Amino acid sequence: MESILVRNLSIVITQDGRRRILKDADIYVEDGIILEVGTVKRSADIVLDGRGKAALPGLINTHTHIPMNLFRGVADDMKLFEWLNEKIWPMERKLTPDHVEKGSLLGMLEALRTGTTTIFDMYFFEERIAEAAERIGIRALLSSSIIDGETPETKNWREALNVAENFVKKWKGKSKRVIPSFGPHAPYTVGPEAMEATAEAASRYDVPVHIHLSEDSREVEQIKHTYGVGPIEYAEIHRVLDLKTIAAHVVWPSDEEIEILRRKKVLVSHNPVSNMKTAAGVAPIPKMLSHGVLIGLGTDGAASNNILDMPETMKLTALIHKAVNRDPTLIKAQDVIDMATINPAKAMNLEIGSIEVGKRADIVIIDLKKPWWRPIHSPISHLVYSFRSTDVTHVIVDGRLVIEEGHLKTMDENEIMENAEKAAMDLLERAGVRSFLSE
Ligand SMILES: [Zn+2]
Repeated sequence: MESILVRNLSIVITQDGRRRILKDADIYVEDGIILEVGTVKRSADIVLDGRGKAALPGLINTHTHIPMNLFRGVADDMKLFEWLNEKIWPMERKLTPDHVEKGSLLGMLEALRTGTTTIFDMYFFEERIAEAAERIGIRALLSSSIIDGETPETKNWREALNVAENFVKKWKGKSKRVIPSFGPHAPYTVGPEAMEATAEAASRYDVPVHIHLSEDSREVEQIKHTYGVGPIEYAEIHRVLDLKTIAAHVVWPSDEEIEILRRKKVLVSHNPVSNMKTAAGVAPIPKMLSHGVLIGLGTDGAASNNILDMPETMKLTALIHKAVNRDPTLIKAQDVIDMATINPAKAMNLEIGSIEVGKRADIVIIDLKKPWWRPIHSPISHLVYSFRSTDVTHVIVDGRLVIEEGHLKTMDENEIMENAEKAAMDLLERAGVRSFLSE
């Protein structure tokens, strides 16, 4: 692999243990690893000019359904369960592996161009998503969905677990960038037996688990009514929280459940845009933070966001908790940057999330020659409150230059967008759903 030297960066936001911010520094990367940060004497195969630019650790989107980019804008402004029952699930029933691949590439292109170097995904046909990640060059923790019922891929949970196991077996240790895992969808779609079988398999293969928990208050009522406990307690009882677990949403946890999340070191994936759009509510992030719960940030799928823009999610995270609690001191800019970088890396034991010697090289370079970046009184403040995803110029993932001058180097961007458009048309036709495209 070609070595990369980024010279004379105006700012390096390291996210190291001391949260150092360096001025006028170089970064040298070889064989996927950051070998030097500071003043670098040697040259490299690729030399980039960092003047007027800042480097930050690649952003980590801890919850998405990447192929759902095909559904962007098809169904907005609906209630969560109606949105699922009437729009999303009918379209998903017609999904083919080919749709998934085309939608994934579009989503990954969007993620990379907006500064995200790692996605935590949960969907169907993860095999095709893994192949797409390999081709385009993104890092991906991919969870093969387990649902107690029919999906586009499988007929029942046993079949789904079997598919997930084969996926994990095939991809574990195969690639430096693809991390396979299990995705028991949610307490309301996965019964106790399926939940426990999934937890057992994840523990046997020593891989993470990704689940939706306590997203909507109606879910909490339903689980309490059926099982006599809350969704997070339900997940704990059935051993899903004994692993490296990503819990998406967590909008309605009880105090006891917050304590469970802390004790089990669960990574809570906060998805404020999705939660606002589906009107699920506002997750008690300040309370969870003060209790020592690990928090990461996610966009959720494009159907409920509708954009996989982590800088936007970072700003909204900093703002929404201040507004609803009427307290401007809640959720500081540094907390938000930690959520988008080092927290999920630590929780999942990934060697990323900071710019430090020895870490895998996932680096985003942004252009500071923009009026909204000046004057640079505080890079941390600007990164949360002023940064726009279009400021991204270069993206390095696992030591490979994937985005150069704002555009994808590894594949043809226009082809990805055209293919996704065609796949979306085909899917809508099969599902009998109409949009502007079909007119
Ligand atoms: Zn989700």
